[in-house]
Amino acid sequence: MKNRAGRCGQTEELVVARAALHMWEEPCISGKEGSGAVFFVGCPLGCVFCQNREIARGRVARDESSRAENEISHRRGEQSAAEEISHRGGGLPAAADEISHQRVGQAAEEEISHRRGELSAAADEISRQRVEQSEAVSDNPGKIITIDRLAEIFLELQGQKANNINLVTPTHYVPQIVEAVREARKKGLHIPIVYNTGSIETPETVHMLEDTVDIFLPDLKFCGRNIAGRYAHLPAYFDIATKAIGEMVRMRGEAAFDERGMMTRGVIVRHMVLPGHTKDSKEILRFLWENFGDRIYVSIMNQYTPMPGIEREFPELGRRVTRREYDRVVDYALELGFSNAFVQEGPTAGESFIPAFDGAGV
Ligand code: SF4
Repeated sequence: MKNRAGRCGQTEELVVARAALHMWEEPCISGKEGSGAVFFVGCPLGCVFCQNREIARGRVARDESSRAENEISHRRGEQSAAEEISHRGGGLPAAADEISHQRVGQAAEEEISHRRGELSAAADEISRQRVEQSEAVSDNPGKIITIDRLAEIFLELQGQKANNINLVTPTHYVPQIVEAVREARKKGLHIPIVYNTGSIETPETVHMLEDTVDIFLPDLKFCGRNIAGRYAHLPAYFDIATKAIGEMVRMRGEAAFDERGMMTRGVIVRHMVLPGHTKDSKEILRFLWENFGDRIYVSIMNQYTPMPGIEREFPELGRRVTRREYDRVVDYALELGFSNAFVQEGPTAGESFIPAFDGAGV
């Protein structure tokens, strides 16, 4: 968005926090040499447990500010709905309906007054966060770069023997990425482009990547509306993400590998098991199996790491996933029939997966 931060926390400025070889992706993505990971700042999903929160929150308070603005607009919608009820109630003509009309009208007015109170509290919260934002903007770990510089970064990573270019959290920069890849290819970029996303693209956005991306690496994080609402403020996440993934599979569904076993084309859907939510994980796997079968690869991850303090608001997320929980999900995937599946062995849960967002390579 021009001059105004969107849900991702960013404006149209291209901001990158790190561009370096990354060894912790699936073996067919990282290989021995590493994947050329470009970490973009900002994320439109905003999971409460995000391990990349240092950069995913974008320009820190912007994210909270835009969320508070969404909340206000949501409440304004509810307020108009309440006013509408009151209006319609006022139109009831028959005396026999008068009592219930008054009850509806009275309840609606109380509701409106209650919502007005909430609205004004939310507006105060925005002002508070804007003050924090102006103080915190200098903490933004990313660097603003041009599209030409992004194209150069791709070529530099290729020069470092990266197996691919791995675009991490790229959703909000799709138009700039398409242009940068086009420029870089003219100058000799030939390694695959990996699109590593939380999956809240529209199918139209995915379609824009038809000539740009070779491998899609989408997450499918939550199935239930309550879980998605609680952990990402987006109850409709599953519908949005599965439509996006459907388009990715349509475009790149048939996987291909080179002679070294490195993926050159395909879709790997990632799912990180959350503590206490194996039922949701199983529903996700069942959906993927029933809709895509072995056309896709799945990557079932056990690396959930509680971020400091998360247990205060989300006590259930204050621990790691147990071996038993993880095994239950993996066994279910095997029972379904998945043979194209990556699983994590050993004590992979840990902050060692979180790279330093120090502007390296940018
Ligand atoms: S989608 Fe990924 S990067 Fe974005 S907030 Fe969620 S965990 Fe963080």
